[in-house]
Amino acid sequence: MERFVLVHYHEIGLKKGNREYFENRLRLNISKTLEDCGVQKVRRLYGRLLVELSAEADMPEIRKRLGKVCGIAYFAEAWTCPRDLEEIERNAWSLIEGRTFSSFRIEARRADKRFPHTSTEINQRVGGYVKERTGARVDLENAELTCWIDIIEQFALIYVERLPGPGGLPVGSSGKVVVLLSGGIDSPVAAWKLIKRGCTAVLVHFHSFPYTNKESQEKAKQLGALLAEYQLCSKIYLVPFAEVQRHIMVETPIETRVILYRRYMMRIAEEIARREKARVLVTGDSVGQVASQTIENIDVISRAVQMPILRPLIGDDKVEIINVAQRIGTYEISIQPDQDCCSLFVPKHPETRARLPEIERSEARLDVAQAMKESIETAEVLLEYPAYARGTVRQL
Ligand code: ATP
Ligand code: MG
Repeated sequence: MERFVLVHYHEIGLKKGNREYFENRLRLNISKTLEDCGVQKVRRLYGRLLVELSAEADMPEIRKRLGKVCGIAYFAEAWTCPRDLEEIERNAWSLIEGRTFSSFRIEARRADKRFPHTSTEINQRVGGYVKERTGARVDLENAELTCWIDIIEQFALIYVERLPGPGGLPVGSSGKVVVLLSGGIDSPVAAWKLIKRGCTAVLVHFHSFPYTNKESQEKAKQLGALLAEYQLCSKIYLVPFAEVQRHIMVETPIETRVILYRRYMMRIAEEIARREKARVLVTGDSVGQVASQTIENIDVISRAVQMPILRPLIGDDKVEIINVAQRIGTYEISIQPDQDCCSLFVPKHPETRARLPEIERSEARLDVAQAMKESIETAEVLLEYPAYARGTVRQL
């Protein structure tokens, strides 16, 4: 028996014309992710991928990493065996033997219909064999142990444990976006959602150093590295924003400051997006969560730029966002204390119903073009890699 990791995707399978493109992208992403894990080749085969393992393959590490490769529905450590009922029965048993369970099911599937036995026949034959030796009952709904048998052209694949991937589409298959990344809980989740749908997310973080400390930048970098576990590598811009804020602060009514900060953030992010050839901006806004996120303010903030602003969390409750943040691993980083640039020089009761003409009048009095230009020119641009890849040279 030869050992592989079998990778299944679902949605890519639906993309008829582009199927090969998506499959190849996924194959490439898996190869890069597992580069140093003892993997030999990733092959495409019958609507699935087979990862060939060497004898030294680091299975625990491979499991951990594949769980974060977007586009994977599920994966399994699988063994091959010849396409022969007796062989299948014997090999399935060798995987099952020694495990404790009181109910089980066999789930055979023929990708190659030329195999002379139907799935039901395989299930009955192998199921009977297992039942006889273990006394366990067959349970098709809630089995404690499932043994999958896939018949493909070359051989049968047998496995007993399926692990979930993130689903979605392979990173790199859906274009580039610029995500405004604060150190908070929401925006990393927004970034992740776009990454999961196959986008490459360039991260833009605004900070007010030296008026605040460097904690928020540190957090943004850590979030970038964590998100790189899903998108291989994160490009991140750390943009100094204090000068722009200083201009806003001296010239405009205190209640509207947050809105003005946001509008200038959008403008700078839009310029970065143009340079990066990204087509849209992304934020972690959710309606009504904080004062800057009323419908009126979202409207006024959005009108600062031409580029569409995507807000993937717009209808989510905080608890739902926190659940995702915990699941993907960003939560622990986000809750570390920091000094957000927007908490600088802002009132207790900010404007919740901004009016565009008034905001535009305020902005007309400002002379921030130079400060904005400097923000962009002096931004620090970094590439963050997953913690496991640090120190190794990687290609984007
Ligand atoms: P988050 O948890 O993402 O910080 P929030 O609920 O705290 O969101 P706000 O602070 O009003 O809400 O921020 C709304 C959105 O504006 C954020 O989700 C993020 O996309 C963007 N944003 C806010 N502050 C920054 C920053 N310092 N740098 C980059 N983007 C920011
Ligand atoms: Mg915030």
